[in-house]
Order: sequence, then structure tokens, then C-alpha cells
Amino acid sequence: MCTSNTKTCACGSASADFAYRDDVMPDSVVEKLFCPRCSSGAEFDSGSMIRDNGWVIKYDMDVATFSASRVTRKEVTPEWLFDEGYCTWQGVHPGDMAESAREREELIQLSAINPRKYFEEFRKWGIHRMERLAREGWRKANVAA
Ligand SMILES: [Zn+2]
Repeated sequence: MCTSNTKTCACGSASADFAYRDDVMPDSVVEKLFCPRCSSGAEFDSGSMIRDNGWVIKYDMDVATFSASRVTRKEVTPEWLFDEGYCTWQGVHPGDMAESAREREELIQLSAINPRKYFEEFRKWGIHRMERLAREGWRKANVAA
């Protein structure tokens, strides 16, 4: 099971949806979030932060290490938290939930008119979407590719 929640960045101009694989990490593992606008003001610390296309997540590594002891004996790193899904974007990027819901909505209207075309378009949509996100440089799209 995964829970998700929305967090606002340090400057308050953007928000991101987070997902927590198997609920291993508590919500408080995200110490701070920086959007592309406010991330330049944050001093980057690779021991507790991860960058993704201009966004920066700062983790509380004490909380992370404590919580991770239930599932791993390895040293806990920001990359592990993000790439293994224990605290990462819900979807591929911070605004993915709203974006994919909107795009899907358009496709669903097609399903009522032409179901066969809908399935074809839906399949293409999934592929093209990942290609576009990988091109844009999102970490999860590139890990999957
Ligand atoms: Zn911001």
C-alpha cells in the first residue's frame, strides 16, 4: 500500500504530490521541498538532498535511517529513498497526478465515441508521455527507460 500527500515548496509558489512505498517512511521524512524557483537559494547537500529537474527534496536523514531499519540494513541515502519509492513523487514528476488525470479525461471522452480507437490512443499516450518526460529530464522517466 502507498499513501500520498501534497507538500508546498519553501517559497510557497508550487506543490508536489509525494508517495510513500509500503508506508515505511512517515510524512515527516520530507524536511523541505524546493521548486525550480526557490531551489537556487538552497545550498545543495548530497547527503540529504536529491535533485530532479530543478526541484530539490531535502530529507530528514535521521527519520529516514530510523524508519528504514525495518526494511534494509544498507546505508540510507537520498537516492535510495527516491529511487526505491520510499519517498518519491506520486507519478513521474511533482505535478503528475493532476496532469495525467487531465490528459486521461480527454481520452475517456473518446472511449464513449470510439472504444477501439480509445485503446489504441491510450497505449500511445502512455508511451509518448514517458518519452516526453524522459526528454524533459525527469529522474523517474529516465530510470524507467
Ligand atoms: Zn518554491
